[in-house]
Amino acid sequence: MEKINKLVDVTLNKLGLKTRALEYKVMELWESVVGEMIIKHASVVEMHRGVLFVHVDHPVWIQHLSFAAQDIKNRLNETIGEKVVKEIRFKAGNRCNEQKIKQDIGKTASRKRALSFEELEKIEAMVKEIGDPEIRKVVASLIRQGKIITLEKQEAGWIECSLCGMMIEPKKKKCFYCGLKELELLRRKTRFLLWELPWLSYQEISSHISGLNKDIYDTVRREMIQELWLQIRTAAKSRNGQKIPNAHVQTYVMLRTRMSPEKLTPEIIWQTLGENIANKLLGGQ
Ligand SMILES: [Zn+2]
Repeated sequence: MEKINKLVDVTLNKLGLKTRALEYKVMELWESVVGEMIIKHASVVEMHRGVLFVHVDHPVWIQHLSFAAQDIKNRLNETIGEKVVKEIRFKAGNRCNEQKIKQDIGKTASRKRALSFEELEKIEAMVKEIGDPEIRKVVASLIRQGKIITLEKQEAGWIECSLCGMMIEPKKKKCFYCGLKELELLRRKTRFLLWELPWLSYQEISSHISGLNKDIYDTVRREMIQELWLQIRTAAKSRNGQKIPNAHVQTYVMLRTRMSPEKLTPEIIWQTLGENIANKLLGGQ
């Protein structure tokens, strides 16, 4: 089965279609490479000239994935055994951005690394025992691809992930998976603190959570505001007297205004909620 795949590759190569075939393979591989958690939020739309276009269902996930883009790219290329993916671009929503994607495709250029003559000769020597010329060609090509990737990693000074040991790029401290785990932990800590102390600014909160950056803080705060606002609106619209705890309303106001509880006044709460909602929610109080 593997052999057939490789022979197909050779045929495609002859027809100049190998790159396109590999690009399709990348799209197929997306799900298994990024894993279950991510595929729920991000789907591959198109791959063209080394650029993988991914549509993401929520801005928060674009942010997550942007942190991880380099590592996803490396993983895809490692799995394929060739540098097919040069860039990953994330877009919010569905296919409404197609025009922009088309423009982006036009801007993308390609790049190819070559092996030295000695290196190529060594590879030829390695495969000369293989009788079938087609298979010999495939094996040589695979070795060349592997060699190129190894060389590129060595030249780029790749190191081990400080947490799990996987090979990663030099400037990074951890791999995509460890990075994602850490990000999730930072998000949870931030959320926990903001529930307790909703008025805390980024500066105040980051002195309690090491490694926190402003993007994570902003995102978590925004998500909490959205969640609470949804609850507030649902309660305000509800005809069967569905209630929202007062503490939640106050948390919402403190998140929005960054005011601590002792500074909250009924006027501020009223203003923040807006006349309409405040009337329905607090009117009877
Ligand atoms: Zn790791």
